[in-house]
Amino acid sequence: MAAVTESGPRELRFAVIGAGMAGILSAITLKDAGFTAVTVYEKADRLGGTWRENTYPGLSCDVPSHLYCYSFAPNPEWSHLYSPGPEIQAYFERVAEDHGVTASCRFGDEVVRCEFADGRWHLTTAHGVHDEVDVVIAATGVLHHPRYPDINGLDSFGGAMFHSARWDHSVAIEGARVGIIGTGSTAMQIVSGIVDRAQALTLFQRTAQWVMPTVNPAYTAEERAAFARDGRLMEDLRNQVAQLFDAVSDGIIDAGSPQMQMIEELCLANLENSVTDPDLRERLRPDYRAACKRLILSPDFYASIQKPNAALVTSPIEGVEPGGVRTADGELHELDVLVLATGFKVDAFVRPISVVGRAGRELDQAWVDRPEAYLSISVPDFPNFFMLNGPNGPVGNFSLIEVAELQLGYIMQLVERLRAGESRQISATMEAMTRLEAARVEAAKNTIWSTGCRSWYLDDRGIPAVWPWPFSQFRAEMAEPKWEAYELR
Ligand code: NAP
Repeated sequence: MAAVTESGPRELRFAVIGAGMAGILSAITLKDAGFTAVTVYEKADRLGGTWRENTYPGLSCDVPSHLYCYSFAPNPEWSHLYSPGPEIQAYFERVAEDHGVTASCRFGDEVVRCEFADGRWHLTTAHGVHDEVDVVIAATGVLHHPRYPDINGLDSFGGAMFHSARWDHSVAIEGARVGIIGTGSTAMQIVSGIVDRAQALTLFQRTAQWVMPTVNPAYTAEERAAFARDGRLMEDLRNQVAQLFDAVSDGIIDAGSPQMQMIEELCLANLENSVTDPDLRERLRPDYRAACKRLILSPDFYASIQKPNAALVTSPIEGVEPGGVRTADGELHELDVLVLATGFKVDAFVRPISVVGRAGRELDQAWVDRPEAYLSISVPDFPNFFMLNGPNGPVGNFSLIEVAELQLGYIMQLVERLRAGESRQISATMEAMTRLEAARVEAAKNTIWSTGCRSWYLDDRGIPAVWPWPFSQFRAEMAEPKWEAYELR
């Protein structure tokens, strides 16, 4: 490392934006590194991010719980292999409390502007609060802004209607005729979550999904006690699951890999063996390759959609009317409740916050074509502004917690350089970002996500906006910054 400049080591002030998984992690890591001036800005009234926002019935995480938790905070109490959403939310609240994060959070106020001026970031909130910090860590999430479908007459619906991420718990599902639009991971979990409660359930499918079979056993009291007694058991389990995920993710980035063949065979056998009615089976059969869209892992979707009160509608939606959903075959599907499980605007990232970097450069302008960042973390001319789970990163079937931990370990090395006074402004060079992006686009063309389907992974050019290399390469990249890729001032 370069020698300490005359400015010397300095106290840094941080703003973390978002108190979800990545924001909590940031606050803990910064505190552990000895930084005391850390404010976490959270627009909602409590932390939790996606686990606070999503409360739909059937919510769980399809990454096994012993992997979907912080490496430094294993949890012997996970109830299931894939634990339900409320348990995950409680986990984050507990970890945040245990590590003193909650006290650093400023709840109920939204950062609306971040402007870099005079070597610092000037933040403004919706309530008119101003703050001045040296470093911004944007932990604003990926799947955050609900995407509402553009369907004729949607607003005319006479019953209750909400997006899956805005579940209205005051609406009774018991005895109701419920329609669900969408067949993503969310919709599939909702189907299983409500099929036994609704009088009738109608799933409006625009695109069929491949479903990877899985089981979700509960941990026994004895197993949980053993985890609590001996932390190595949890560590071993975590490592095993991580290895499996690595193998799967390495397979997905190579459309011709043996892992992909295995995944396809498992999904196909699941469809053939689990769905008895031939007509339903054909309507559930996708016409693209497994894992091209985000793979669905479900122990019970096929069983749920075959229940007598469940119906799969594949005729395209023509419009919504006060009484229900009208499909192209002319049928009106009468409904009391309509759930829009139609996904998220995935290219927003830190926006709609107005971010203004060096020399008045606006992020909206920098991203006028599409979001780009060097290694998903840093944007040229936006010094000391670092993103977690930013554009084009590993967002396939991974634990985003592991991704965020690796990214933060990397960001902390940039931050240490600022703390040591070796540099006052750090951001990636345009050249480094452009070169990496060109290689990424080329590599993305060999992945399974490029094999011909519509998915939220694809950008406006139809190129997967994700990390297209092995996860081991991501780990290696995150181990240490290549300093030549940065402009250090
Ligand atoms: P999504 O994967 O984007 O799915 C949206 C669904 O809505 C698709 O089936 C889409 O159909 C359908 N849709 C959108 N507009 C429509 C329209 N106008 N008419 C008819 N159908 C329409 O969203 P998501 O299910 O919320 O999942 C998003 C991501 O969240 C997942 O891929 C996953 O990464 C994450 N997630 C993870 C878990 C977990 O357990 N880890 C659980 C839930 C979600 P098309 O397929 O035809 O476009």
